[in-house]
Amino acid sequence: MGEFDLIRRYFQRLPASGVEVGVGDDCAVLVPTPGARWLVSSDMLVEGRHFLSTVDPARLGHKALAVNLSDLAACGATPRGFTLALALPRVDDAWLAGFARGLWGLADASGCPLVGGDTTQGPLNLCITVFGEAPPGQALLRSGARVGDEVWVSGRLGDARLALEVFRGTVALEGAGFDSVRAAMECPTPRLALGQALRGIATAAVDVSDGLLGDLGHILAASGVGARLDVDALPRSAVLAAQPAVMQHQCLLAGGDDYELVFTAPPGASLPDVGVALTRIGRIEAQPGLRVVDGGGTAVEHGLRSFDHFKS
Ligand code: ADP
Ligand code: MG
Repeated sequence: MGEFDLIRRYFQRLPASGVEVGVGDDCAVLVPTPGARWLVSSDMLVEGRHFLSTVDPARLGHKALAVNLSDLAACGATPRGFTLALALPRVDDAWLAGFARGLWGLADASGCPLVGGDTTQGPLNLCITVFGEAPPGQALLRSGARVGDEVWVSGRLGDARLALEVFRGTVALEGAGFDSVRAAMECPTPRLALGQALRGIATAAVDVSDGLLGDLGHILAASGVGARLDVDALPRSAVLAAQPAVMQHQCLLAGGDDYELVFTAPPGASLPDVGVALTRIGRIEAQPGLRVVDGGGTAVEHGLRSFDHFKS
């Protein structure tokens, strides 16, 4: 099978609504909503760095798009489409069929059609660029947190990191417990409905991709504020809660790959119910820096920092 047969078979479909020209020409032609702002983000996944070579291709297809949609969610954007740049070592039909199934499954569920891309031979590498829209002035940014705001997080933190520790051999876990944390790592859910519902309510937002400390730190730096964070309040699964405290803190504070939203909102703000749990985890303060405390307000020594490709 040649390059163009491969594209036709796995990545070309009839254009979705809002797409005048999709896969198959030199450019895609998209129809913008009048007055809306474009929000654009790219994320690359490299084999061995972001995923294991043994991962189920359908889960990889899902995750490649999910991590990109999570950036749109963090900005409160409505997805409009995405492109896929793909380097493949060889044409493996079973792999491509699985990958495309996972990719299209999330694309369809999110109303985010594949509109173009690039395909080449090379070490397995995936790069997706997503396009979304938001009304003028309504994109959620990292820079809007104000002193006195409360800090909130969606869903639960830490399971993806716990799964990574199992793969690394530092944690022993099997059965249903392992399956659930593995699903958190391989099959994250981008919080798109929550992000859109937080427009005009959240003062700042970010998605947790590198770890809570670092990602909340981005809000603090961009907003010129500090925060107090209650580690005991951080939402966690029963599986993670059964681990020793040091491992819990590692996974919760510096885990990464969570793809939950962390956002700030004034006290008393009416928060949306989109079927995702929201937990208050801290407060914005004037004093710069991030102070991690326990439920009793005592400082917690953790010595952790978030993931950094060039430092870790
Ligand atoms: P060009 O050479 O003009 O850049 P290509 O030959 O790379 O175009 O691609 C042909 C068409 O297939 C284009 O519409 C491109 O957007 C699309 N395409 C290529 N690879 C992919 C892919 N992996 N997923 C979706 N669309 C793709
Ligand atoms: Mg061309």
